[in-house]
Amino acid sequence: MNNTDKQYSGYNAIFTKKDKNKTVLIPWFTDFLSPLIPALAKVAGYNFVNCPKTSKHSADIGLKYGHNEVCYPATLVLGDLIAEIETGRYSLDNLAVAITQTGGQCRATNYLSFIKTGLKNAGYGNIPVISVSVGDVHQNNQPGFKLPIIKMLPLISGAFMFGDSLNQIYSSAVVRAKDKEQPEKLFDKYMSRAVECIEHNRHRKLLSLLKEAVDDFNKIEIIAGKEFPKIGLIGEIFVKYNNYGQANITRWLREQGYEVVVPPMLHFFTQSFVNQKVNTRNGLKKLSLLSKLMLPFFQKLFDKIISRYDAVMRQSKFYKHHKSVFEIAEYAGELIDLSNQFGEGWLIAGDIANFSKEGINRVVCVQPFGCIANHVVAKGIERRIKQHYPDMNLLFLDIDGGMAEVNLQNRLKFLIN
Ligand code: SF4
Repeated sequence: MNNTDKQYSGYNAIFTKKDKNKTVLIPWFTDFLSPLIPALAKVAGYNFVNCPKTSKHSADIGLKYGHNEVCYPATLVLGDLIAEIETGRYSLDNLAVAITQTGGQCRATNYLSFIKTGLKNAGYGNIPVISVSVGDVHQNNQPGFKLPIIKMLPLISGAFMFGDSLNQIYSSAVVRAKDKEQPEKLFDKYMSRAVECIEHNRHRKLLSLLKEAVDDFNKIEIIAGKEFPKIGLIGEIFVKYNNYGQANITRWLREQGYEVVVPPMLHFFTQSFVNQKVNTRNGLKKLSLLSKLMLPFFQKLFDKIISRYDAVMRQSKFYKHHKSVFEIAEYAGELIDLSNQFGEGWLIAGDIANFSKEGINRVVCVQPFGCIANHVVAKGIERRIKQHYPDMNLLFLDIDGGMAEVNLQNRLKFLIN
């Protein structure tokens, strides 16, 4: 029988209630959030384990078992998972894998089926795949997995705020520090302590922990009398925040004496406050009465949490005020219609405008191979950005597994010179 005669038999492994104690592998995402995810999952009653940091091996394995025309982050995510399964460290009968799902009008919605196909190709079609999502789980049958999102909201938002805040002080400190190892050590120390807080469900403690981190980072001896120009880094969420995914350009820019500024991760997740309003106004969505009542409540809750973290961060000598997602949306609205919500959507336009208003006029936008969504909302509006912000220097970098780091660095040299 040749392949065309075979009938598609679907993916039969589902995460049932009996699977609750299984080890759940998750792909590595980013240094300032990934370590906190297993701790959050532990509070929800699950045993999540991070794959090691993404590497060339992940890209090779992802290409081997996944279709080579998918977007680059999908290849890396699949490769991370299969490479870790192949180490033989886990009992296959006691294993599941999970990925976060935001859905949307791009391939992000198809990651689940892509991972299932990849696992089957590699001979692991009996491993259940979980969709970790705030809303619907994209028709994934997973009766054994439920995230008590409302109950955990203060802890989850605290974890995001802590990660974003620590990353911001670290990014500013590491380029200025006389002893580069000092900020590295402090970053690791406070990430591990945050893991302990989260595991014990102590979201308030995260705030006092951040205060301690701010005090310790303030003591770092910095190089005096030298300018450290800022470069904005924006683009697709995975390649922007994942060191291997972005071909280590953040590290390289820091070595050249530049402070790399990234927008807070929280914006990606809170943009839905804006999107809900826009989609309702445009007649694309009808909110239920409950959603209409709950939305302002959640918005207020987030504002309160953000302002508490901001008050602590103001004590840092590396402080940088983060604008609310609504202000970013307002800036974006001058450049692009806010119904552009595929990929990073209008956030890219808003972030570029925001950087310009903050005097950061060099911005790198990283785009993965195969990501049509972000090409449209980023490179597609380049001319308009130039009209509004003539001083802005934009560099769009397409990134894929075959790209040599040195080629990217050569292009970055044009931007910084
Ligand atoms: S935004 Fe681009 S890279 Fe990310 S999942 Fe969508 S298509 Fe892929």
